[in-house]
Formats: sequence, C-alpha cells, structure tokens
Amino acid sequence: MNFTFLGTGTSHGIPMIGCSCGVCRSTNPKNKRRRCSLYVVAAGKHLIFDTPPDFREQVLTYGVARVDAVFITHPHADHIFGFDDVRRFSTLQEQHIPVYGSPETIAKMHRKFDYVDKGYNFESVPRVRFTEQTEPVFVGDARITPLPVSHGPDSIYGFLIEAEGKRLAYIPDCNGIPPETLALMKTPDAVILDGLRPSPHPTHFTTDQCAEQLKKIGAKQSFITHITHNWDHRELQTYLGDAVTVPWDGLHIEL
Ligand SMILES: [Zn+2]
Ligand SMILES: [Zn+2]
Ligand SMILES: [Zn+2]
Repeated sequence: MNFTFLGTGTSHGIPMIGCSCGVCRSTNPKNKRRRCSLYVVAAGKHLIFDTPPDFREQVLTYGVARVDAVFITHPHADHIFGFDDVRRFSTLQEQHIPVYGSPETIAKMHRKFDYVDKGYNFESVPRVRFTEQTEPVFVGDARITPLPVSHGPDSIYGFLIEAEGKRLAYIPDCNGIPPETLALMKTPDAVILDGLRPSPHPTHFTTDQCAEQLKKIGAKQSFITHITHNWDHRELQTYLGDAVTVPWDGLHIEL
C-alpha cells in the first residue's frame, strides 16, 4: 500500500488570502498547504479521500492515475467543493465511480451536487454512485472501514484502509475519538490525524491534543494534518520531535 498527501492545510489553505504573516509569505514549498485530501493505492485500487476545492490542481500536480472509489469524511466546503472534477475520471474510465460516506454526508452530497443525479450527457457531470456506508466495504481486495469521530457537534468519519497486510487510519477533522473507534483502529501501521493549531478550537484537536492522541493510538508511523498558518513546517517538526512526522503536500509514503 502507498499513499500521497494531496493536501495538508486547514480550510483556508496556506497562504491564507490577505495574510502577510511569516508562514504565508514563506518561500519554503513545505509551507504551501492545499486543503486536505489523501490519495491511497491499496491492493492495486486507487482511492481518494475527500475532494477539496484544490482537487483538480492536486490531481494534475501529483499525477493521480485513476480513481476507483471516492470516500468523503464529511460535507464541509473544504472537503468536497472540488468534487465536480471526478467527472474526468468517470469519462476516462467509462464507468460510474462509487462515492462513499455516512448517510448524513451522502444526503448532503445529493443536495449540494443535485445536478449529478440528472441525466446530462456522459462528459458533463461526474458519473458516480452515491452510496451510504455504515459498515466496511471492499474496493477490490482493499477493505475500508468507517471510523466515527467527533468534529464539534457532528459525528463524522475517518477511514481505516486495510490491504496487503497493512493498515492506515486517516482522520483529517476531529476533536474526539470514541473508545469504539480506537478499538477499530487497533495498532495501525500509519495514522494521520487532525492537529489544527496550538490554541483551542471547538471542532479540531490542538497540536498538543493531536500528539497525545497519536501516542495513545501508537501506530508505527504518525502524521499530523489540517495545519494552519500558525505553524512553520520546520518549527512544528522540531516541536513534535521524532514521534510525529509533519507532512507536506506531495509527501509519498510506502507502507
Ligand atoms: Zn476540514
Ligand atoms: Zn498567515
Ligand atoms: Zn470539517
């Protein structure tokens, strides 16, 4: 299994519009963060987790080859508003692409992308099968299990991806992990978790809360994501030490 971070930034992205702080003005490419998305190749299947507003540019920059299934963690704008560009893949692959999410997420996808359900010609809209997911699903031999977590007042999904004897947990937006979800994860080979910024936020883990949760999960490799302009890449990596890797857009990991 391998995965590529297509985006590691918070909802604003970095640089943030109209900000002239040191991180937003930084020339270090690791300080340029698109909105969160993950590209996983598992058992030969190409899986996308969230389609943020930057999705088209992320696909072009990091060479997403095809898309066998899309998983949506939750329907916040920073996670879904690049969804229309899935249509290039349904056109190229001449097939309907399954799109999985919780029943609440799928209901909102139908509303926000109502034109997708209408019968325009094949190249005009994404050809997808919106599918409510409450149990593990298989895409080929890759098994994807929903990981319910708190995101402020909402219960949303992270996902556990299992293939070829490897296990990866992806939880980009979260401020609470219930014990049942921790139990589902067991000890993954890699985990990627929301760690927004140093100061408290009503719907996201802080940097310290994220580090604490990552320690509790005890994966072989731990990553923080959904990062704000409050952190310079190098300073955050120094702050977190060896236990947690601070990713950047385009980081590719082989498990
Ligand atoms: Zn988000
Ligand atoms: Zn800034
Ligand atoms: Zn969110």
